[in-house]
Parts: sequence; structure tokens; C-alpha cells
Amino acid sequence: MIKEFKEFIARGSMLDLAVAFVMGAAFGKIITSLVNDVVMPVVGLLLGKVDFSNLFISLSGNYKTLDEAVKAGAPVIKYGVFINSIIDFVIVGFVMFLIVKQANRFKKAEAPAVKTCEFCGTNIPAAAVRCPNCTSQLAQE
Ligand SMILES: [Zn+2]
Repeated sequence: MIKEFKEFIARGSMLDLAVAFVMGAAFGKIITSLVNDVVMPVVGLLLGKVDFSNLFISLSGNYKTLDEAVKAGAPVIKYGVFINSIIDFVIVGFVMFLIVKQANRFKKAEAPAVKTCEFCGTNIPAAAVRCPNCTSQLAQE
């Protein structure tokens, strides 16, 4: 049981996953901070000093700020925070798209060119003139 677990953890993909998860969590925090502390204040200022994290609809009673409403225990729809989260998500999604796009480019560049041996049907380097598997002389293309 423990041995099995060790093998499970030792598998490369498991470690990759763990690293990706931790990196993702840390990265998410940076993006959240970027959105809440850098982007949204600027957007709010451009829209006429709107503080997005303080936008809300009170479902009962009138409160000037979100803090006040929360302290009073009033039910509120925090749509400002929701908008922040959506912008968060869009930025993270866009950055992930850029990373994956870049990674795919590297992958393509790394993959060596191969051709299929016409005699034995195995994949061999495209530059080969003799098949390493069946030793057939190959016609030059
Ligand atoms: Zn061959």
C-alpha cells in the first residue's frame, strides 16, 4: 500500500501536476492582486471614481458601504466583487492562452522530422538514407 503510494507520488506527471497546482495558486494570487490593486482602481477612476469592490445591492435596508451592510448582517449582492472575479478570470485565461500557445510552438520546434520506412513501416529520421531498423537502402527524396 505504502509502496504503491510512493510509486504514485514518484511518477513524473504527479510531480508536474503538484508543481503546476502550486504555481497556479501563487499565480492566481498575483493576478487577483493585479486586478484588485492595480487595474480596477484605474478603471474605477476612469469610470468616475467607482470602487468596484464596494459595489453592491442591499436586499434589505440602506447602507452606504459594503462593510456597513456586512457588519449589520444584511443580505447583499456583491456584484462589484463578482465583476472583479470575472476580470480576474479573463486575464488568467488570456495569460494561460499565451503560455500554452508559446509552449506549443516550442514543442513543434523540438519534434524531429520523421518519415516512415517504406520497407518495414517504422518511423525513422527524415534524413536517414538507410533504415536503422531493417537496414534497407532508402530512396533519396
Ligand atoms: Zn525499415
